[in-house]
Amino acid sequence: MASAEFNPHDAIAWPFFEARHRALAAGIEAWSHEHLAHVPHDDVDATCRALVRKLGDAGWLSYGVGGTAYGGHGDTIDTRAVCLLRETLAKHSGLADFALAMQGLGSGAISLAGTDAQKSRYLPRVARGEALAAFALSEPEAGSDVAAMALAARADGDDYVLDGEKTWISNGGIADFYVVFARTGEAPGSRGISAFIVDADAPGLEIAERIDVIAPHPLARLRFTGARVKRSQMLGVPGEGFKIAMRTLDIFRTSVAAASLGFARRALAEGLSRAASRKMFGQTLGDFQLTQAKLAQMALTIDSSALLVYRAAWLRDQGESVTREAAMAKWHASEGAQQVIDAAVQIWGGMGVQSGNTVETLYREIRSLRIYEGATEVQQLIVGRDLLKAHAGA
Ligand SMILES: Cc1cc2nc3c(=O)[nH]c(=O)nc-3n(C[C@H](O)[C@H](O)[C@H](O)COP(=O)(O)OP(=O)(O)OC[C@H]3O[C@@H](n4cnc5c(N)ncnc54)[C@H](O)[C@@H]3O)c2cc1C
Repeated sequence: MASAEFNPHDAIAWPFFEARHRALAAGIEAWSHEHLAHVPHDDVDATCRALVRKLGDAGWLSYGVGGTAYGGHGDTIDTRAVCLLRETLAKHSGLADFALAMQGLGSGAISLAGTDAQKSRYLPRVARGEALAAFALSEPEAGSDVAAMALAARADGDDYVLDGEKTWISNGGIADFYVVFARTGEAPGSRGISAFIVDADAPGLEIAERIDVIAPHPLARLRFTGARVKRSQMLGVPGEGFKIAMRTLDIFRTSVAAASLGFARRALAEGLSRAASRKMFGQTLGDFQLTQAKLAQMALTIDSSALLVYRAAWLRDQGESVTREAAMAKWHASEGAQQVIDAAVQIWGGMGVQSGNTVETLYREIRSLRIYEGATEVQQLIVGRDLLKAHAGA
C-alpha cells in the first residue's frame, strides 16, 4: 500500500518497498539537496575523502555494512536500501554515489565472510567513514576473465606473501585497505583463489600508477612485491575467494544498475526542463512530436530499468539467489541509461556537449558502468547460461 506522502504513480510506492525504504528515500533526497549542490571536481582524492566522511557522519554508509554489532544498519546488507541510496546520490552527484558505493563494495566481502575479529577491526570504521575501502579483483590480463588472475599468494609460516599486480582499482591510492583476490593454488581456475584484507601500508604494496578516466575518480594500478599478509587476514577458507567475490558482486551489481537509473532520471529531468523552455520555430522544443517521442522513450527505459533493479534487490532481500536478475538489471539499466543520457544531450543541442553542463557530465559518468563489475556482454552470457541450465534441469 502506498504511503500518503508518496504519489502512488512514483516507483517508491511499488510493493517492492517497505515503509522504512520510503522514509530512507525521502531522507537521502533531502540530504542530497542540502549537501551535494556544489561538489568540487578539481581534486577528486580530497573530494572523495570528504564525501566519505560526510556520508558516514550522516549514517548513510551503515546501510552498506552487514551487522549492527559492527556499525551496520541491519544484520545483513539491505539491498533495496543500498540501491535507493545509490539511485538518489547518482541523480545529484556521480562522485557522491562513487564514494558510497566503494565503501560497500570494498568492505562487502568482510561483511559476508569475515571473522568477528576482522569485522570488528574494519567495518565500524567503514560505516563511520573513517576508513576507505577498495575491492581489488581485476588484473591487466584478467578483467572479464577473472578466473585467469595471476597475482600469487604463497603461504610462508604465519604469513602469505603476495606477488603480482591489480589494476583499475577504484579508491586505489586513497584506500586504507584493499580486499585482494589472489591465487593460492588449491585447485586450477576459480577454485584456487583466496581473498585477503591488505592494509594500504603493508610493506611490499605500492601504487604503481594512477589512472585517469573520462569521469575522474580515484583509480590505480597496484603492485605487490613480496607483500606480507598475516594468515589471520584471509577471508573465509583457502580456495573460497572466487565465491566470496561473486557473492559480493551479486549485491553490488544490482546497485550499479540503481546508480545507472539515477543518472538516467537526472537526464530525463534535464531533458524535460530544456524541452519545455527552449524556443524555436515559433514554439517550444517540447511542442514537437519528435521531441515527445524521445521523452516517452526515455521514460519507458527508466521505468523498465527501475522494475528490473528493484525486482533483483527485493528478491535478494528475500534470501534468494539473484545472479540472473542482477545481471538483467545491470545490463538493461546501464545500456538504457546511456541511451537516455544521449537523448538528453541531443535535446540540449550544442549546450549538451559543453564541458560542465549536467548532461555532458552524465554522458561521461555513465560510460564505465557498462564495463565494470562485468561488461554488458558478460551479463548477457550469465543470463543465457542460466536460462539453459534451468531448461536442462526442468
Ligand atoms: C572506471 C572503472 C573502475 C573500475 N573499478 C574496479 C575496482 O574497483 N575493482 C576491480 O577489481 N576492477 C575494477 N574495474 C575493472 C573492471 O571490472 C574491468 O575493466 C572489467 O571487468 C572489464 O575487464 P577489462 O577492462 O580487462 O576488459 P576485457 O576483459 O579485455 O574486455 C573487453 C571487452 O570485451 C567484451 N567482452 C568481454 N567478455 C566477452 C565475451 N565473453 N564475449 C564477447 N565479448 C566480451 C566486453 O565488451 C568488454 O568490455 C574498473 C574499471 C573501470 C573502467
